[in-house]
Amino acid sequence: MRPILHPALSRTWRDESTLQIGVTPGSALLIGDLGPVEIAILNAMDGRYDLAALRELAAELGGDRGAADQLLDLLFSAGAAVDAAARIQVHPRVVPDRSSLGLQNAEPDGGDAALAARRRYRVDVHGAGRVGASIARLLAAAGIGDVVVHDPAATIEADVTPGGHAERAVGRARGRALGDVLRTDSPADPRHGVSGPTGGTDFAVLAPAPGAGREDAAELMRHGTAHLLAEVVEVTGVVGPLVVPGRSSCLRCHDLHRTDMDGHWPLVLDQTVRRPPVEPACDTALAAVVAGLATAQVLAHLDGFTPATVDGTIEVSLPLGLPRRRSWARHPGCGCAWA
Ligand SMILES: [Zn+2]
Repeated sequence: MRPILHPALSRTWRDESTLQIGVTPGSALLIGDLGPVEIAILNAMDGRYDLAALRELAAELGGDRGAADQLLDLLFSAGAAVDAAARIQVHPRVVPDRSSLGLQNAEPDGGDAALAARRRYRVDVHGAGRVGASIARLLAAAGIGDVVVHDPAATIEADVTPGGHAERAVGRARGRALGDVLRTDSPADPRHGVSGPTGGTDFAVLAPAPGAGREDAAELMRHGTAHLLAEVVEVTGVVGPLVVPGRSSCLRCHDLHRTDMDGHWPLVLDQTVRRPPVEPACDTALAAVVAGLATAQVLAHLDGFTPATVDGTIEVSLPLGLPRRRSWARHPGCGCAWA
């Protein structure tokens, strides 16, 4: 082991014996009462010294050999140090993503294993309008190894956005046109497919036209595939629920809760799909916000965390633009809650 201070965290000496590592509440660590031995150890954590050499250094300076272990235990348990000897070479484009993973899981490998795990996942994206196209591209760029887009509709001018479809895609099938872009977005070893079979996927994103996606969701429930809804309806963006079949509330649960509050909800849903608006609204920036939030939720789930959209939705409305979370429990009348 060759310990180094976490390369994604800044170092600030608040006074001659107090070091602050990092800045934000979730990541920052404050260590006080540092003597000359501890300071020498910290300065020697540049990747050249292994654990034995750091112990030796402590002894040479008249300190206890255990001082090195004590300091390193503190740093590693707080996620403020990584083992330089265990690190692997990753594509330069995903180095910031690896750093972010390392800060979140506080593993001594600095996020290497978590980033490698992303490469093994397949995520299917159903619907590639402004929101879905952007989600697919963000997932590929974040290191998901296989992103499969399902949308045979022709790309229209209104689909073209920065981070989504390109001008040259107009007229081509959305899914197929995006497949080529995903291979460029991907940091390495691109395997991104187009409109393949739905089996064998690790996660699915539903980015349908407003009110749609219920049949896809029911199919995913039958297969036990975790999925997330993301859409823009008028001037409101909705991300969630993130459904873990058998463990969290599903889209049907949410529709049943809405029906409890408004008996005409199924009618509204049905008519929205049958008679969609002639010129549906989808603000460019709101679509980007929804895509960013949705992608972060998918990645958090695949990275092993429980994101905010499990048993919930995040909603953002214009012009305020302030995300708020709503809680949604399982509905007793929905089959997904039955053992
Ligand atoms: Zn349900």
